[in-house]
Amino acid sequence: MSMAIHTERLTKRYGSTEALRGLGLDVPEGSIYAFVGPNGAGKTTAIQTILNLRQPTTGRAQVLGTDSRALTHENFQHIGYVSENQRLPEWMTVKEFFEYLRPLYKTWDAELHAELHRQFDLPPGRKLKQLSRGMKMKAALASALVFRPQLLILDEPFTGLDPLVRDELIQGLLDRAEGMTIFVSSHDLAEIESFASHVGYLENGRLCLSEEMNVLTERFREVQVIFDGEVTRPATWPKDWLSPEQSGSILRFVDTRYNPALCQASFPAARGIEAQPMNLRTIFVALARSGREGVRS
Ligand code: ATP
Repeated sequence: MSMAIHTERLTKRYGSTEALRGLGLDVPEGSIYAFVGPNGAGKTTAIQTILNLRQPTTGRAQVLGTDSRALTHENFQHIGYVSENQRLPEWMTVKEFFEYLRPLYKTWDAELHAELHRQFDLPPGRKLKQLSRGMKMKAALASALVFRPQLLILDEPFTGLDPLVRDELIQGLLDRAEGMTIFVSSHDLAEIESFASHVGYLENGRLCLSEEMNVLTERFREVQVIFDGEVTRPATWPKDWLSPEQSGSILRFVDTRYNPALCQASFPAARGIEAQPMNLRTIFVALARSGREGVRS
């Protein structure tokens, strides 16, 4: 499978802070890859290094087959980038902004331009500095979609937006996702879960987990084992079972590789075993609680 983004042992040090610690990331072409992790995990640093906006301390990154450090204007014809912290030319009107960008891209799609302006209800005569946060984000996203990039990189696009604007942005994105790779960093796990095909979890500059969303949600279960009397645990506790908790005659844990047969065999004295699917938020809370090393895919 071809990778839209590939990094090898990427490290980035800011003085004594190690923002990236040997990051190895593979983002398959055509995927919608959610790059999640707590504040300070290194997501923005990784994105900026991938786009050659920052130099790595060691290691390397490739984007659409080209080494990041060799990316040229020609390569950026195929890469859209929208960041929460992006500075737009605030003094321009929406119309002037798009007219300024248009000659920079060979693949600018005038029809799509009109369509995006309609869909996002962008006011052509309004100065960018007068737009609300949500409107600015829509203008930024439209400016990155309009030249039909092969790869779209979004750094925290939903932060601080109300649910309505978030939904409009996601819809605008999904309407044009075909044939494109979307790499999106976010804290918004509920939103991400609704549309991402892959997820990577970064913590402390390390990628703790990277896999297809449905594989991840398939393998995690919240298991509850009910006994008639005393709880009996297996002699050897499997390393894939996290956060065991006991209350009365009930034992609960998180199975990170759900295997009903192993559960049944491990608790022969149980009256019943229930296994509930977990959403992304509860999966990451379970991982955060337990230390993640043993549960990588
Ligand atoms: P957030 O979700 O809060 O945006 P993040 O996952 O994007 O965080 P980064 O912004 O990449 O994380 O920061 C990673 C680490 O590097 C943090 O400890 C941060 O304080 C540090 N850092 C980032 N930029 C710089 C810089 N220019 N100089 C020094 N340290 C920095």
